[in-house]
Amino acid sequence: MKIEKMLKRYRVDHGKHFRLKDHDPADTHGLDSEDKDEAKELLANGVEELSRLQDILAAQDLWGLLVIFQAMDAAGKDGTIKHVMSGVNPQGVEVTSFKVPTEEERNHGYLWRTSQHAPARGRIGIFNRSYYEEVLVVRVHPEVLTSEKLPKGLVTKDIWEERYEDICNFERYLTRNGIAVVKFFLHLSKKEQKRRFMERLETPDKNWKFSAADVKERGFWDAYQEAYEEAIRATATEYAPWHVVPADHKWFTRLVVSQALVKELKAMKLEYPIVSGAEKKALGEARRKLERE
Ligand code: ATP
Ligand code: MG
Repeated sequence: MKIEKMLKRYRVDHGKHFRLKDHDPADTHGLDSEDKDEAKELLANGVEELSRLQDILAAQDLWGLLVIFQAMDAAGKDGTIKHVMSGVNPQGVEVTSFKVPTEEERNHGYLWRTSQHAPARGRIGIFNRSYYEEVLVVRVHPEVLTSEKLPKGLVTKDIWEERYEDICNFERYLTRNGIAVVKFFLHLSKKEQKRRFMERLETPDKNWKFSAADVKERGFWDAYQEAYEEAIRATATEYAPWHVVPADHKWFTRLVVSQALVKELKAMKLEYPIVSGAEKKALGEARRKLERE
């Protein structure tokens, strides 16, 4: 299978003509359940390749990678992060989940809490939800905006445009500092979300995952889809692209995400640090010292 072609299909790096309806949540790029073995192998390769590249990323200590996950409930953010990152050295990765902001967080601008967790050089930072919530849940529920402690005069009809602009600027700032940004929207269908909620209700081991609040949010489905579409249109850029990943089939979601991350890291042209002449000499001396023991 042509991975390049597959990734291209889901990558959105130019928002102007983006329409969510052009993207099918059940899409598997022509792979069906009979090709699952091939898919499994591709996922395994992706995971292995990620581990290899992360090792160089850390050794070189020059670039960083910020990976953002956004999705409706039950779209598989947690499972995707777990599977895709299963091979990487935990010391090189930090996963941060962003929930309803705390009192302290609300006393700052909304990028404050996220920027603290942006990855350092040599590291991969994963955001399970992110500052995009500020143009998603906050947009769908205007009362949340009211609770944000913003000076009245600053909240105008332009607020969403302003936020898109600030988000783009923040992402550009990161990339200009050597921290690459890649964003995933796990695109789930309403039907599949219902199936997964039912499964959580019917399977005792999955009960803990069920939250009545999720069903309430489901009631705002169309408003969320619109908010996602608009946010992606406004923030899909060459320097910080979105990937709209079909999420009705978990195995496929994981495959696409792992391959997209491999591609992102490969594009950095990472290299192990080159040891200088003086350093080589020091290594030689250390070696002789050990041999003499
Ligand atoms: P899971 O349910 O798998 O544990 P989750 O990301 O859904 O993961 P929850 O604790 O269920 O975690 O939900 C977090 C909630 O916090 C979401 O409903 C999200 O919309 C909300 N949230 C995140 N950021 C903000 C924000 N800036 N303003 C308001 N609400 C936010
Ligand atoms: Mg939840």
